[in-house]
Amino acid sequence: MSAKIDVAIIGGGVVGSAVARELSRFRLNICVLEKELDVCNGVSGRNTGLLHSGILNKKNMLRTECCMEGNKEFEQVAQELDVPFRRCGKLIVGFGEEERGRLEKLYKQGMENGVPGIRMINAAEIKRLDPNVDGEFAIHVPSAGILCPFTYTIALAENAVQNGVKYCFDCEVTGISRNEQGDFSLETKQGKMTARWVINCAGLYAYKISEMLGFGKYQPSRVKGEYEILDKKAGKYLSLPVYPTPNEYGAFDIHVTPTIDGNVLVGPTIEHIGEGIDYAATQSMIEVLEKQGSKMFRYVKRDYYIRNYVGVFPTVEDPETHEEMDFRIETKESVPCAVNVVGINSPGLTSALPIARRVIAKIRQSEALTMNEKFNPVRRGMVKFSQKNEEEKRRLIAQNPDYGEIYCRCECVTKAEVKAAVHNILGVTTVSGIKYRTRATMGRCQGGYCETRLTQLIQQELGKKKEEILLNKPEAYMFTGEVK
Ligand SMILES: Cc1cc2nc3c(=O)[nH]c(=O)nc-3n(C[C@H](O)[C@H](O)[C@H](O)COP(=O)(O)OP(=O)(O)OC[C@H]3O[C@@H](n4cnc5c(N)ncnc54)[C@H](O)[C@@H]3O)c2cc1C
Repeated sequence: MSAKIDVAIIGGGVVGSAVARELSRFRLNICVLEKELDVCNGVSGRNTGLLHSGILNKKNMLRTECCMEGNKEFEQVAQELDVPFRRCGKLIVGFGEEERGRLEKLYKQGMENGVPGIRMINAAEIKRLDPNVDGEFAIHVPSAGILCPFTYTIALAENAVQNGVKYCFDCEVTGISRNEQGDFSLETKQGKMTARWVINCAGLYAYKISEMLGFGKYQPSRVKGEYEILDKKAGKYLSLPVYPTPNEYGAFDIHVTPTIDGNVLVGPTIEHIGEGIDYAATQSMIEVLEKQGSKMFRYVKRDYYIRNYVGVFPTVEDPETHEEMDFRIETKESVPCAVNVVGINSPGLTSALPIARRVIAKIRQSEALTMNEKFNPVRRGMVKFSQKNEEEKRRLIAQNPDYGEIYCRCECVTKAEVKAAVHNILGVTTVSGIKYRTRATMGRCQGGYCETRLTQLIQQELGKKKEEILLNKPEAYMFTGEVK
């Protein structure tokens, strides 16, 4: 790779993809460099999928400002990008007098932040909002919502690509220097490339890129959170996310959240793991999740369990105060043409577009940007057969018989949808890439029925050998030889 580009964005998570999409409003040659084989393979793909309201963070913090801005605009964003979203509200429930005191403090913080419509409610009102939620009292936060982080990140990335951005996968940035013209010279797994601007959106690894760029050292410290996913049968009983009262240090313990696709997430647990990254889900935490989760929502039961997963928060210590750092979007005189985005912890999903606009404001302090008159903010998602009514289904099958062939029985995903996903505009060819675009393999059987059919279709459509099929990562081959 030798082309010189205007802006290299390191990281194709929700933040890097939001920056790419917003920057494509301008006439620039933009490239996203992502070390994995798809977008949303870092922190962005391992979270709760909540559109936060801004109640949980202190006033005058950048993360509170970005969260409130991101929350307010999300109907329009969801409509432009064709991303399913429900502003279902949220409950933060409490039991006993000690928790009441802490909830009242949180309510005051929400009022100070200007979170719209929040109210302290009693047990009867909780039951009116959702008869399956337990609590003696609660804060009702009507502006909170739910969305799928994969669909949202894919939508941002696809819209960016439609507007001229290029994504390079399997393209880890391993070194950064300056050439004689003062441009950045990037060492990547795919070769060298030159860029006028570099934007660091590397999530858990942002501290490494920060150092490579010359912004200095940020000490990472990670928090591991385990979740379990409950089947859609449990999802029928939960209409809105339920959080417990924050503990005495202000941290939130395990919560229960309905997903936009109808499942329920229980978690995350909170475990400080130092500098490492550990995605191992454990049996012991499943028991903790079930015990805590069932206090608020009685359908947290083993019968509904389908799988578990782990998210890791990239907390960064503030070099001056040694406390957990706020979102930081910085430039530095000694590092011209670079924007460093670090400390993007929760609510980074909600805040991605506001963060992107602040990155662009930083660039505009150094150079004028010309509008891209061809920019189109609208992206259309894939057809979801399972969400169509009978007449629409019949019409689809008449137009394309592949809609009449069900590939994933649990999630009712058709061959036509899988085919469309195989030919996605980001050029992603992994089995997980199909999973996150269609939901095939995400149901109760977790791919037992459809996974081999997906691999066969990838082979047919893309002319690949089965030994070339990857699950989700470079080297993660699904077929390595004969079993017998
Ligand atoms: C358990 C948990 C729950 C959360 N829940 C919520 C929630 O409900 N709502 C909310 O708003 N926020 C939530 N968050 C926060 C939110 O998920 C993150 O703030 C957000 O996803 C961060 O996005 P990102 O793009 O900065 O990072 P990432 O998604 O990690 O993206 C960074 C990308 O950079 C790539 N990369 C790294 N190094 C390199 C390199 N050298 N070269 C090339 N590529 C590189 C990585 O592969 C990765 O894809 C939660 C976070 C966690 C951990």
